[in-house]
Amino acid sequence: MAKLAYERPIINRISAGIPDKFGMQSRIRPIPQIEGLSVEELMKKHGSPLFVLSEKTIRDTFRSALKAFETRYPSVQFAWSYKTNYLDSVCRIFHQEGSWAEVVSRFEYEKALANGVPGNQIIFNGPHKTRDDLEVAIENDSLIHIDHFDELYTLLEIAGKSVTKPKVAIRVNMDTGIFPRWERFGFNYENGEAWDALNRIMLSGKLDLVGLHTHIGTYILAPSAYGMAANKLAQLAINLARKYNHHIQYIDMGGGFASKNTLKGAYLPGTDTCPTFDEYADAITSALINSEIEPDHMPTLFLESGRALIDDAGYLLGTVVANKRLPDGRRATIVDAGVNLLFTSFWYDHQVVPAVISSQHTENTTIYGPLCMNIDILRDAVMFPLLRPGERIVVPRVGAYNMTQWMQFITYRPNIVLIDTEQRIHVIREQENQNTFQTSERIPQYLK
Ligand SMILES: *Cc1c(COP(=O)(O)O)cnc(C)c1O
Repeated sequence: MAKLAYERPIINRISAGIPDKFGMQSRIRPIPQIEGLSVEELMKKHGSPLFVLSEKTIRDTFRSALKAFETRYPSVQFAWSYKTNYLDSVCRIFHQEGSWAEVVSRFEYEKALANGVPGNQIIFNGPHKTRDDLEVAIENDSLIHIDHFDELYTLLEIAGKSVTKPKVAIRVNMDTGIFPRWERFGFNYENGEAWDALNRIMLSGKLDLVGLHTHIGTYILAPSAYGMAANKLAQLAINLARKYNHHIQYIDMGGGFASKNTLKGAYLPGTDTCPTFDEYADAITSALINSEIEPDHMPTLFLESGRALIDDAGYLLGTVVANKRLPDGRRATIVDAGVNLLFTSFWYDHQVVPAVISSQHTENTTIYGPLCMNIDILRDAVMFPLLRPGERIVVPRVGAYNMTQWMQFITYRPNIVLIDTEQRIHVIREQENQNTFQTSERIPQYLK
C-alpha cells in the first residue's frame, strides 16, 4: 500500500457549508470524466487550465426548455443570447436547434451574420446602437428593440429617408415584485412611458411595430415575476389592438432564468432552489393565454434565455500548484485557474471538486487562483481534501458568461474544447500566445 500523505492536524472553526442533521457534509464527489472522457487525458492533450463544453448537454438542455414552452403555447421562438457565450461553435449549435440570434452590440451583430443567421432572425437589443448600427440593422431587416427616446428619434429620422420600413419593438421595464428592478433599460410601464413610446411609434407611421420586449433581470428565482411581466406586456398589446387595431407579432420575454449554480450568501444550494423550465413556462404562458388578447392574434412567444441553457454544459479544469497554511490556520490551495477565467466566481459559490480523490480527509480550504491579486479567489471556504501539486480540479457549470467576460490579465487564455455527441474532441478556440497580442500592438518608430 502506498504511504499516505501526512497532513498536520488542526482545529477547525466551521465556516464552510451548512451542517445538516448528519453534521457537516464532508462527502465530496469527484469528477474524473466528462462525457465519458478522462479529465486527466483531456488536460494532458490540451493543457491546463482548460475549458470543456459538452455538445450533448447543450442540445439536451435546449430541447427540454423548448419542450416546456411548446407544449404550453402555440408559437414559440428562442433566440440565443450571444453575450452569454458567443463562441461560434456554441452559437451554431443553438442555431442548428432552431434558435435565432439575440445581440447587444455591433460586434455580436456581425458575429451572428458571420454564423449564417439571416438578418431578419437577429434581434438587436441593448442601450448603445450607433446611427450606423441602426442603418445596417434596417437594411438587413433585423428586429430593433428600442431602449430609449433618443434611439427612437434617430430611428424616425433614418426611417424618413430609408426605403425599407424599420421593424421595431420597444423594451419595457416594470415592477414585477422583485428586486433589483432593472429600470435603466427600456421604457417604464408603470409611469406610462412605455405607452407613450408606443403611441409615438404608431402615430409616426414610419416604423413597423412588430413586438414588445422585456428582460426583467437575471438569475430570477421567482417564476411569478415572469407571470406579472407577461401580463403587463399583454396589456400593452391589448391597448394597441383597441386603439389602433394593430396586432403585434411577438412578445419577447427576454432571459433571466436561473441556472443551478449557488449564489453567494444563499442558504440552500442552487440545485435545490432553481425553478424548472416547466415552472417558468407555466407562469409565462398562463399569463398570455388567459389575457384578453384575441385568439386569432396570439403573438409568438420569444425567449432569450442565456445562462440556464448553457451553464451546465461548461467545465473549467485546472491543476493544483501548491498548498499553504494561512496565519489563521486555514488551508489555502493554489490552482492555475482564477477569476481571470472564472468571472462568475464573483457572484457564485462555484462547486470545485477534485478529478480524483486521494485522501478522505476534508478541511476548510480556500482555493486561490494564480494571479497576483488578493481578490483572486476561485472558491472561499469549501470542505476539500488535500490535493498534491499536479493533481487536477474540476469546476462544473461554468458555461455561461465566463468565456465572454474572462480577462486577459498576465496570462494567456487557454484552449476551449468541445466534446461532440460522438465523444470526439474539437478545439474550438485555441490558447492565446505572444502572437495573439503582437498582431494588434504598434510600436512607434522612436521606441524601436
Ligand atoms: C443578457 C441578456 C439575456 C440573457 O440573460 P440570462 O440571464 O443569461 O438568461 C437575454 N436578453 C437580454 C436583453 C440580455 O441583456
